[in-house]
Amino acid sequence: LRANFSVVKKDSGLANGLIAVIHDVTEQEQVDMERREFVANVSHELRTPLTTMKSYLEALQDGAVEDAALATKFLGVTQRETERMIRLVNDLLQLSRLDSKDYKINLERTDYVDFCESIIDRFEMSKRQNIEFVRYFPKGSFYVRIDRDKLTQVIDNIISNAMKYSPEGGIITFRITRRGRNIRTMISDQGVGIPKENLSKIFNRFYRVDRARSRKLGGTGLGLAIAKEMIEAQGGEIWAESDWNRGTTIHFVLPLDRRDN
Ligand code: ADP
Repeated sequence: LRANFSVVKKDSGLANGLIAVIHDVTEQEQVDMERREFVANVSHELRTPLTTMKSYLEALQDGAVEDAALATKFLGVTQRETERMIRLVNDLLQLSRLDSKDYKINLERTDYVDFCESIIDRFEMSKRQNIEFVRYFPKGSFYVRIDRDKLTQVIDNIISNAMKYSPEGGIITFRITRRGRNIRTMISDQGVGIPKENLSKIFNRFYRVDRARSRKLGGTGLGLAIAKEMIEAQGGEIWAESDWNRGTTIHFVLPLDRRDN
């Protein structure tokens, strides 16, 4: 805070008042700082894959193209980097839409357990990795009002993270419980975990515990930031709990449809 004081004087020269103007500079400075940091992050995140691609393309031009095995490998790298860059730009577009005032969410009454079952079924069908899914779901129907596309994206992101940071043969546990007027979802893995001091930061834009590892796994560092904004836009809350080297649980709560309460 910054305060400017002016003394109000009578004609006689005696002070009879004080005007204090208090500016909240910290908030404005904070916003400016965050914006600068965001632009710097975006530039850095885009420059990294571009520099990698440039050096691989140069190597191809300098002769690697003659060696079929090497050429295939180098083209593979540039392709993966391109795909990651597309994901990054898509994530950035999503965030910019979330930031805009006319952001729309399309809430629909949905049977929540049914909805989650079909998401997990899809992951089980497309098993690319040796991971087992365990479900602890309550009996009966619980209705929520959600934007299905957006919540699908949130859950996809949490499950993809759980898979990315899990060992071969790991178990991902999906729990749903009713808590009063809310429905709570917990998605746990047996992966690398997150150190306690970093837990609250994983929902920040571009924050990653291990930058190099996230990049190698194709991450953008924006998934959980988008998830948090989407959950909050639907009246919910999201947080994480973790034991370093033991696993991670992402929790989120959503309000049940008021019509049933
Ligand atoms: P990324 O694209 O890097 O996965 P996210 O926003 O989805 O970005 O996640 C941010 C960071 O949080 C990740 O880089 C990782 O360090 C950490 N993280 C997220 N989920 C998990 C998990 N299930 N296990 C371990 N670390 C995780």
